[in-house]
Amino acid sequence: MPPDVPLLTADERALDALQSVRVLYTDLDGTLVAKGGSVLADAGALPSLVVAEQIVALNRAGLAVVPISGRGRLQLRELTQLLGWDGYIAEAGGIIVHGTGLEFEERIDHGTWPADTLAEDTTPFEAINAVRAAETLMEALPGRIEHYAPWQFDREVSLLLRGCLDVAEGQAVLDELPLPLDLVDNGMLRSYGTLTCRDMPPHAYHVVPKGVSKARAIELDLAWRGLAREQAAAIGDSATDLQMADAVGVMALVANAFGSNGVTAGLAATPRDNVWRTQAERGEGWAQFARTWLAATGA
Ligand SMILES: [Mg+2]
Repeated sequence: MPPDVPLLTADERALDALQSVRVLYTDLDGTLVAKGGSVLADAGALPSLVVAEQIVALNRAGLAVVPISGRGRLQLRELTQLLGWDGYIAEAGGIIVHGTGLEFEERIDHGTWPADTLAEDTTPFEAINAVRAAETLMEALPGRIEHYAPWQFDREVSLLLRGCLDVAEGQAVLDELPLPLDLVDNGMLRSYGTLTCRDMPPHAYHVVPKGVSKARAIELDLAWRGLAREQAAAIGDSATDLQMADAVGVMALVANAFGSNGVTAGLAATPRDNVWRTQAERGEGWAQFARTWLAATGA
């Protein structure tokens, strides 16, 4: 564990900063939900109310909670509605939605792509597939990257892959394609699937239009909500989550984040003074964040 990431619950500066926070952007997998995807479980995936109780407490206190995830739109809509929230950010920042019912508003982010990049009635997902981004990565890095089945379907903005990659190496492969794309590390997975690499844990990766990121989606969403950066916090466990620090006042990493090589590399590469860690892993760390916000704000 890097010693220079202070503990959220024991740092006066964090408690001060949390007093301004009115919206929390939360990652799901590896952060809010247990292994297997339940919120009704502790960090060890045993049945527990530890997370659910804090979801209810934050809802009662009026903190807006916005799930921000690599998952697709339909998965996010159902989960957001189920947990009593009102907006979500899907596909690693590509889709920003307010409202979970029949009435909703959405913004699709194409990153830095010029306005004429997409042919009419074409989604970014279709454009990325048209330049064979997944196939090119698989040909260049055999055994190290594959579709993350069965979640690679029903997507609109990004590819979802599973692999064990040096992100810079994968990015160099994408840079040869005739469409500006980014490779994003979205954290550790449990299963290697059919990958043959064993020199690092498997990770989820996204291929997105260049510039699309969770951090950029938060900036767009805060502007849409009329809130300032200081009024936002984020919590996560992956390298792309760590970048959310650039868009919020308070960035929290759950304890399991420090097992990810992307997170430790990101911490080393860019010193930031608004990143804190929780003592506990996964949902139990999320619950620690919630209790700390409630204590700091007296809500
Ligand atoms: Mg995650």
